Amino acid sequence: MSTPSLLILPGDGIGPEVMTEVARVIEWFGQKRGMAFDLSEDLVGGAAYDAHGVPLADKTMEKAQAVDAVLLGAVGGPNYDTLDFSLKPERGLLRLRKEMDLFANLRPAQCFDALADFSSLKRDVVAGLDIMIVRELTSGVYFGEPRGIFEEGNERVGINTQRYTESEIDRVARAAFELARKRSNRVCSMEKANVMESGVLWREVVTRVQDADYADVALSHMYADAGAMQLCRWPKQFDVIVTDNLFGDLLSDAAAMLTGSLGMLPSASLGAPMANGRPKALYEPVHGSAPDIAGQGKANPIACILSFAMALRYSFDRGEEASRLEAAVERVLAEGKRTPDLLGEEGATPVTTAQMGDAILAALDESL
Ligand code: NAD
Repeated sequence: MSTPSLLILPGDGIGPEVMTEVARVIEWFGQKRGMAFDLSEDLVGGAAYDAHGVPLADKTMEKAQAVDAVLLGAVGGPNYDTLDFSLKPERGLLRLRKEMDLFANLRPAQCFDALADFSSLKRDVVAGLDIMIVRELTSGVYFGEPRGIFEEGNERVGINTQRYTESEIDRVARAAFELARKRSNRVCSMEKANVMESGVLWREVVTRVQDADYADVALSHMYADAGAMQLCRWPKQFDVIVTDNLFGDLLSDAAAMLTGSLGMLPSASLGAPMANGRPKALYEPVHGSAPDIAGQGKANPIACILSFAMALRYSFDRGEEASRLEAAVERVLAEGKRTPDLLGEEGATPVTTAQMGDAILAALDESL
């Protein structure tokens, strides 16, 4: 197989700071694990606007379409608040998601033991938690027609339409089953089949896909409201959860809070498989450009580093190396190393972004 290619888009604010640490991690895997990447770097968001007058240049879009995976830092900042909507940094990110047709959004909720006390839930409920929410990202009620605010008699009515085709459900179900095979082989599908026809179809198609091609993966179904309760009651019962755009929006945010800080949360958005079998893929931390701390060495690079771990697992089929990187992060946290967003516990040592990178590289060295 040819050398895997990775396009790096650091973006704005703390994006370049956290990406500097990821670049060191990538270099480590090259030197110590013989994993070569064909790396390229480009601009997105405000940085692209400053250079090209648009938040994503066509050339950059072409590169993103051609590589095996894109790794993005963050976009946005106060300098760009007054720009026309079409030129705002976030439009660069939306263009990537739309033109790469990234229909499956993966949000892991993973709770490192050392941070279990940061959760609003009890330690034993969240310690060691490792679940994955797969949210359908390009259809459903956020896109369905008709939509709008209309006159009806002597008042107005607001309308949005939940709409899913069989093929849209089929492809996101397949993404979830494929992921489950790389994890604990269980999928729970969530909808509201009790009150929504789109939910009835969702359940039917997910079941059909499993029957036809994924009999080795255990499938269960849950109404999304019951699922929300179960996520708070005993989240460890889940492995992969697959759900639609609206329920996924809510459930993934709720699950994120099980684990503590924004600076810890990675994500991936996957599309259809390319000619080489790898899915189109964009990996990025959940957090934004954090202008309040940009340039101060305070940013936590872990969300972005864990996004690279997701790329190793889901784009490059190197699950064992992804686990090595996650274990290194776990080890550093267990040693009490904390960027300021993770402080709050006694005995914790505040470290800078670069020192967190140093510590993770040292833990990687110890893993050999
Ligand atoms: P934000 O995620 O940038 O920051 C929210 C809070 O969390 C801030 O106090 C910040 O300091 C802190 N924080 C975030 N990431 C952190 C990290 N890695 N380490 C330590 N602390 C961290 O959200 P915001 O303040 O609402 O938005 C700031 C800008 O980012 C806006 O322009 C917004 O549009 C943009 N944004 C971009 C993305 C993205 O690129 N995917 C996502 C959300 C927001």
